[in-house]
Amino acid sequence: MKDFSFQNRSKIMNQMATSLFDLIIIGGGITGAGIALDAASRGLKTVLIEKNDFAFGTSSRSTKLIHGGLRYLKQFEFGLVKEVGSERAILHKLAPHLVVPEKMLLPLYEKKGLGYWLTSIGLKVYDLLAGVKAEDRRRMLTKMQTLKFEPLLQHDIKGGAIYAEYRTDDARLTIEIIKSAVEHGALILNYCKVNDFLYSTDKMISGVVVEDQLSKEIFSVNGKVVVSATGPWVDELRDLNKSKQGKRLHLTKGVHIVFPREKLPVEQAIYFDVEDGRMIFAIPRGRTTYVGTTDTNYVGSKDKVLTNHEDAQYLLKAVNAMFPSLKLEIDDIESSWAGLRPLIHEEGKSASELSRKDEIFESSTGLISIAGGKLTGYRKMAERVVNFVGKKYFEDLDLKACFTDRIKFEASSFESFKEVKLYKTSIFHKVKLSGFSELTAHYLVENFGIQTDLILKRYEARSAHENPELSLLKSELWFTIQYEMVAGLQDFFVRRSGLINFDIHQVIKWKFEIANECKVLLNWSEDKMFSELQELDSLIQSVQNFKI
Ligand code: FAD
Repeated sequence: MKDFSFQNRSKIMNQMATSLFDLIIIGGGITGAGIALDAASRGLKTVLIEKNDFAFGTSSRSTKLIHGGLRYLKQFEFGLVKEVGSERAILHKLAPHLVVPEKMLLPLYEKKGLGYWLTSIGLKVYDLLAGVKAEDRRRMLTKMQTLKFEPLLQHDIKGGAIYAEYRTDDARLTIEIIKSAVEHGALILNYCKVNDFLYSTDKMISGVVVEDQLSKEIFSVNGKVVVSATGPWVDELRDLNKSKQGKRLHLTKGVHIVFPREKLPVEQAIYFDVEDGRMIFAIPRGRTTYVGTTDTNYVGSKDKVLTNHEDAQYLLKAVNAMFPSLKLEIDDIESSWAGLRPLIHEEGKSASELSRKDEIFESSTGLISIAGGKLTGYRKMAERVVNFVGKKYFEDLDLKACFTDRIKFEASSFESFKEVKLYKTSIFHKVKLSGFSELTAHYLVENFGIQTDLILKRYEARSAHENPELSLLKSELWFTIQYEMVAGLQDFFVRRSGLINFDIHQVIKWKFEIANECKVLLNWSEDKMFSELQELDSLIQSVQNFKI
């Protein structure tokens, strides 16, 4: 595995500033990451530039499902259901530790939703389009069977259905793809912002002007083709290129709220109707259950998207209507996240009605932008972009065909899901010696896959006198600094470990010790450590902002 660490930052920057690239990608979310891996593996000299941390934007704020999109069936988007449906099976094969099967329960009521028979037919079509294996196909349930699956449901239920989905961690998936692209030769850096474009004498784009967000140094990167995979920021980059004409983005905000599992002890993932006709998920994960999402038009800052009181109340009302015996209150929510869907505007359509399809735009000066799409469809989106670029600009290179459906990630050299389960058991046997529960084994393997071995090796070498929880956290921090370009506290707590969402108490408990460890490993000054802690505190406040 290549060192992909902060220590190599100036070397990477230097290579960026002194080479001529075939392809410059702006944006290190799932879309940019996917394009970088596709392009580099097919032989293009590729560079990717991200202004914040990888997956800082929408790609760490989704529902974290690799799904066929049942709701797209309602919108008659058969092509989309078919494509993302078959992608699920591919992604599960590529990363079985990270794209994990999750049966979804769909409760059915007398006068709500599609009704029993329409749901039965809809799910059958869904399974057929998505190419679901016979053993995983939908099962319709009687009232008693449904209540057995989820005793918390109301007794006026008519029945239910169980169907196949997959859950993931969006930010971890993005970072694994980024690392894989680096293994295939791409040069990639976070905390570098594209501030402007370079143009050749024929007024075509020939590169970008970049500002290092840490040192404020400015440098240029030269390339033959520039792709903007900047999600919600796509129109901002088109403005910079003076090419925002025709289609434009329509941003909608989606919020998730997180409860401790004991407050919302669902047995399994559930997808249910809300009063206004929308549907939301309740998904158990580790020691929590999260609920989402909302879908409202958004016009505020793209860099600071917050859950407000109204968002939290909407979800709280929905979850209390579904599970009235729980009487959940706003103070039961321990964390939240809010993200923006970079959808393509369609006149007269509401937020929920807009298509999730991706589209490629090209400006007259050659800026290629990709917008729309889904986490689940990232691989096919990347293939389409690289095919487009290859055909138009690199016909002479005779590019290889896309083969990302066969590129396994570093973390997942497992042959099957069964192997992942065996590995989890072996990790549990190791960590329980230090008093950890099975949840720790799940957390480690689902986040880091086979790389857990490296983390535990580091852990075992640490002092036996240190608190085991802190020692393990420091070992994870070391791994993510060494191999995953962590540059600050938020990178670690939000996008590499997910702790801010799913175990905020650990963040609060250990933030000073982890900041001190960063000081040593990243060579921070006292001032830098202080400002990182301040920013982390303001983030902790902001994920509970709705309580104000
Ligand atoms: P982003 O992840 O936003 O990445 C764009 C990046 O560009 C950012 O990191 C940003 O910092 C960077 N950038 C911007 N400007 C510059 C610049 N000037 N210089 C350098 N870098 C720049 N999809 C699913 O498949 N399953 C789901 O369960 C699901 N749930 C969702 C739930 C919600 C609430 C939302 C909002 C979306 C959901 N999606 C889901 C959709 C999915 O998350 C998005 O389609 C996807 O993450 C978009 O990724 P992206 O890379 O295009 O954008």
